Amino acid sequence: MLATLSQIRWIDALDILIVAFGLYQLLLIFKGTRAIPMLMGLVSLYLAAKVSLWAGLLTANWILHNLLGVWVLLIIIVFQPEFRRALANLGQRSSFIRAFSKVEEAHMIDELVRATTSLASKKIGAIMVLERETKLSNYVESGVDIDATLSRRLLESIFFPHSPLHDGAVIINQGRVIAASCFLPLTLNPSVSKDLGTRHRAAIGLTEETDAVAIVISEETGSISLVMDGQITGDLDGAALRRLLGDVLKPKRFR
Ligand code: ATP
Ligand code: MG
Repeated sequence: MLATLSQIRWIDALDILIVAFGLYQLLLIFKGTRAIPMLMGLVSLYLAAKVSLWAGLLTANWILHNLLGVWVLLIIIVFQPEFRRALANLGQRSSFIRAFSKVEEAHMIDELVRATTSLASKKIGAIMVLERETKLSNYVESGVDIDATLSRRLLESIFFPHSPLHDGAVIINQGRVIAASCFLPLTLNPSVSKDLGTRHRAAIGLTEETDAVAIVISEETGSISLVMDGQITGDLDGAALRRLLGDVLKPKRFR
């Protein structure tokens, strides 16, 4: 045992560390997503193939064995959003520069909260997406370019029923409304409550794939929700939303 240990070179230790770090990052990507139940399903299939071989169930084993061949493809297709998000994060983490000042941020939160409570009190449905490190260019392209200073009145005008831009989401970055009427990806997570309609599912779907934060106002109930990392926090009032936004938008090094 000691002899084996003494044969370990420093490069082996580094190798193990790199692999452990890689596996940990992979687990972080899959944590809280639909990946874990699916991985369990795949592991069950693999075990079933082993058991069928051991028990001599030739036909069952033939089918399960052939399924193994398409597993790699299956994993890539099933986990495509997670892989896409991980690759996007890798590319953008290093280049991100936070040039937005604290004063501007406080003003943006104030306008956002006031627009939200005003829309909610009139039961006007809305999705407002705050872009963070992951670029949302694909989703911006699906909507209508705006690029105007964020203000409560602008948001209220956009979401005013029958306004040409009221359908879909607004995307906001650094105090500017970048685009409106944007189409977001709907979540495929089966555990999302059936009571949530497409507006809420779109906010959940986007935040599963990116680090964006979404504010959703329900047209049916006038309730305000904050969505991030695919998790929805509902029934917020203005003060709670302000507090949560303050926490979420704080630069990471101050958290
Ligand atoms: P509400 O509580 O406001 O009724 P909901 O979650 O029940 O919301 P729906 O009633 O289906 O959702 O809301 C439909 C509206 O949600 C659409 O008119 C559109 O503005 C918005 N919406 C639906 N799908 C998307 C999407 N993929 N991306 C952006 N916005 C969407
Ligand atoms: Mg609805």
